[in-house]
Amino acid sequence: MDCLFCRIAAGEIPCTKVYEDPDLLAFRDIHPQAPVHVLIIPKCHLSGMDAVTEENSGVVAKIFASIPAIAKSEGLKNGYRVISNCGPDACQSVPHLHFHLLGGTQMADRMG
Ligand code: AMP
Repeated sequence: MDCLFCRIAAGEIPCTKVYEDPDLLAFRDIHPQAPVHVLIIPKCHLSGMDAVTEENSGVVAKIFASIPAIAKSEGLKNGYRVISNCGPDACQSVPHLHFHLLGGTQMADRMG
């Protein structure tokens, strides 16, 4: 298993866990870009947004269904941002689908 996030999901590499269920894991980003910066990943390997299909999109729905509760548990009462970088133009650095949950500060209006 040569995928960093697969290894984190398998417990082979430590993380600061925020939430876990049988299909997904949420943990703190090692280089936070906001006071709250959580990564939410499917435990199954999908290389990124481009690998999402109608057949496997159930886990993406589960991730999105988990986000409001994670945001609430992180105290994000005033809003938050969810981002998934896909491919080189978006600077995706880990080829395992993940969603950044960012908050706890007033973020920039511009996103790209
Ligand atoms: P991206 O650049 O969108 O692919 O996001 C990958 C994210 O993973 C970056 O924000 C990194 O800081 C984060 N990251 C890389 N390695 C680890 C790790 N071992 N534990 C937690 N976050 C990590």
